[in-house]
Amino acid sequence: MTRILAVADEVDEGMYGERLPELAPELVLACGDLPLDYLEYIVSRLDVPLLYVPGNHDPDLRAPSRTWTALSPDLEDPGPPGCINADGRVVEAAGVRVAGLGGSIRYRPGPNQYTQSQMRRRALGLELKLRLKPARSGRRLDVLLTHSPPDAVDRPDTDPAHRGFKAFDRLLRVARPRAHVYGHVHPYGVAQPEPKVGATLLVNAVPYRLFEI
Ligand SMILES: [Zn+2]
Repeated sequence: MTRILAVADEVDEGMYGERLPELAPELVLACGDLPLDYLEYIVSRLDVPLLYVPGNHDPDLRAPSRTWTALSPDLEDPGPPGCINADGRVVEAAGVRVAGLGGSIRYRPGPNQYTQSQMRRRALGLELKLRLKPARSGRRLDVLLTHSPPDAVDRPDTDPAHRGFKAFDRLLRVARPRAHVYGHVHPYGVAQPEPKVGATLLVNAVPYRLFEI
């Protein structure tokens, strides 16, 4: 079992006190729309791996392409220091295999927003990586880490910006991760049941959730 702290969308002031070390996670997953210095603070205080995907309110956090890096050595990874960008990637950390897809449905101009068909292409790319890079454990995927929810989940409101991605429903069916961790839709203090899609536990991480897989 691995103890995982998931965070999303809202800074929890309690984390600046004793709560963070008391939670004692072995891995942190950040689902986006959080200040980058909050993530940097968490990773430096805990000293465990932190994987993140960007949310729709985050800047473009993709590392500059190698060609440009070679020309201007000053260009650095724009993400929070010490944290690992899992967007569009399959990353293994603390013995957990994580696949990440950041961003929300496109509802206004800006980075980290995608139409359903753009996200379908991104999800297919990730599916291909999962097939090409089988895990040593034989398991294809432990956690799907995204900013937006799957389309199948019940939405707390009818805001079109909170629409989930159909491509995630497919990924859950095909890759059958043990958990799908996401943010973006705020639970608004309503007690959240722990729904499942097939064998996958759905974890709404706003503002934080601790779980074990
Ligand atoms: Zn969002």
